[in-house]
Amino acid sequence: MSEPFDVDLFVIGGGSGGVRAARIAAGYGARVRLAEEYRVGGTCVIRGCVPKKLMVYAGRFRDEFEDAAGFGWEVGTPRFDWARLKERRDAEITRLEAIYDTNLQRSGVEIVRDRAVIEDPHTVRLVASGERVRARVILVAVGGTAVKEPAIPGAEHAITSDGVFELTRLPERILVVGGGYIAVEFAGVFAALGSKTTLLHRGEKLLRGFDEEVRDALGHAYAARMDLRLGRTVSRLERRAGGIAACLDGGEEIEVDQVLVATGRRPNTAGLGLEAVGIETDRAGAIPVDAYSQTKVPSIYAVGDVTNRANLTPVAIREGHAFADTVFGNRPACVDHRLIPTAVFSTPEIGVVGHNEDVARECYGAIDVYKSSFRPMKATLSGREERTLMKVLVDCASDRVVGVHVVGHDAGEIIQAVGIAVTMGATKADFDRTIAVHPTASEELVTMR
Ligand code: FAD
Ligand code: NDP
Repeated sequence: MSEPFDVDLFVIGGGSGGVRAARIAAGYGARVRLAEEYRVGGTCVIRGCVPKKLMVYAGRFRDEFEDAAGFGWEVGTPRFDWARLKERRDAEITRLEAIYDTNLQRSGVEIVRDRAVIEDPHTVRLVASGERVRARVILVAVGGTAVKEPAIPGAEHAITSDGVFELTRLPERILVVGGGYIAVEFAGVFAALGSKTTLLHRGEKLLRGFDEEVRDALGHAYAARMDLRLGRTVSRLERRAGGIAACLDGGEEIEVDQVLVATGRRPNTAGLGLEAVGIETDRAGAIPVDAYSQTKVPSIYAVGDVTNRANLTPVAIREGHAFADTVFGNRPACVDHRLIPTAVFSTPEIGVVGHNEDVARECYGAIDVYKSSFRPMKATLSGREERTLMKVLVDCASDRVVGVHVVGHDAGEIIQAVGIAVTMGATKADFDRTIAVHPTASEELVTMR
C-alpha cells in the first residue's frame, strides 16, 4: 500500500505535537521522516515552557531569601548573576534537545534539518535541499510564532518572548505589554530578578477568561510587586540615548531598557503551501481540523498550536498521540478538549481546571461556590503579606465539581492532582469524604463546607 510513497508519514515540525506523533507512528511500524527548520524540541523545550520555568525558579529565590529571616536565618545580601543563569539554562536546553533527537532516532524516525513546504496532498518539498518527498500521510505540526500586536510605530525596538532567551544582561528597566500567560509570567520573572518592571495591559484586569476572583487576586499581588498599569496602551516606541521611550495613550512617556511585547501568537501557516492543496486557514491563521485532527484534504492532518485549539504542550502531545493511534495504530482516538488543567507560572502561581464561575453559571444555572482565602502558614513567620485563594464550583443538580481554582504556592502541582478527580467526574461529596493531608494548603479543597 505504501509502494508509491517514500515514507508513510512526513511530519512537518519537531515540537511537542510532531515529535510525539512521529515516535508513536514509528512504533506502529510506519516509515517516518520529520523536518525541523530550527531546533528539535520546538517552542516548549527551546524557547517556551522549559527555559521559562527555569527562569521562574530563579526569580522565586528572592522571596525565599527574604522569608528566611523570619525562620531564624541570616542570609546576607544575595547577588544575582544573569550570565550564569543564562549559561546554565542554555546548557540544559541543549541537553534536552539532544535527548529529543536521540529518542526520535531510536524510534526509527529520520530527522531532516530543513524547512518543509507542502506541494500537493502527498508531496513535501524541502526548501534548502530542494528534495521532494512523497508521503502517504502528511502531518502539519508547525506550531506558532509571537506577533507584535498592535503594529506600534517603533515596534522593531521591542522583543518578543523569543528575545527574552537571547538577552545577555538583565534589563534594569523593562516594560512588558500584554495581559495573557506570557506577559504575566515574564513580568513576574523580571520583577523577581530585580528589573524595575512595568506591566501594561489594555484591559482592566489581567488574564481574560480566568475566574474574576483569580484575576482580582493576581492583580492585587502584582500591584505590590511591580508597576502595574491597566486599561492603558502604547502608541509609539522610540530609541533614545538613555533607552527606549514608550509613549502611552494620553501622552505619558516612560523610559526603559527593554520592551517585551506579549500580545499573542499566530499559527505558522504563512508560506507553508496550504493554498496549493486548497486548505484555507481561519481568521487566526489556524488550520481547521475535525475531531481526529484531519484537514479537509484526507491525507493531511494537523496537530498542536497550528490548529489553535488549546495552545498548550500537553494538548499538542495528546493530539499527536491520538493522530498516530488513529492513522497508524488502527485505534481511532480523539482528544477531549473540554477539561484541560492549566497553570500560570506567575508568583503567586495559578492553577485551574474546569469552568470559571461566570461560565459555570451559564452552563449549569444553579451552582454552589465554595471559597477559601487564607494566609498560608509559611507567611505567619515570614511576615509576607500574601493570601492563598481556593475556589470549588459545584453543579447543584448533579453535585459534580465543575471548576477548581487555586492561587498560591504550588497551584500548578495541586491542580494536576485535582484535575484527575474532576476529569473522573468527582462530586462535592467525593471531595468531602477525602481525608485531608495536614498541615497543607490543599487540605482546604476537601474541608470547605
Ligand atoms: P511547536 O512546539 O511550536 O513546534 C513547532 C516546530 O515546527 C518548531 O520547532 C518550528 O521550528 C518547526 N517548524 C515550523 N514551520 C516549519 C516548517 N515549515 N518546516 C520545518 N519545521 C517547521 N505550554 C504549556 O503547556 N506550559 C507552559 O508553561 C508553556 N509556556 C510557554 C512559554 C512560552 C514563552 C511560549 C511561547 C509558549 C509556552 N507554552 C506553554 C505553549 C507551548 O510551548 C506550545 O503550546 C507547544 O510548544 C505547541 O507545540 P506544537 O508541536 O504545536 O508546536
Ligand atoms: P494570550 O492570548 O494568552 O494573551 C495575549 C494578551 O495580549 C492578552 O492579554 C490580550 O488582551 C493582549 N493583546 C492582544 N492583542 C492586543 C493588542 N492589539 N493590543 C494590546 N494588547 C493586546 O497570548 P500569550 O502570547 O500570552 O500566550 C500565547 C499562548 O501560549 C497562551 O494563550 C497559552 O495557550 C500558551 N502559554 C501557556 C503557558 C502556560 O501554560 N503556563 C505560558 C505561556 C504561554 P485581551 O485579553 O484584552 O485580548
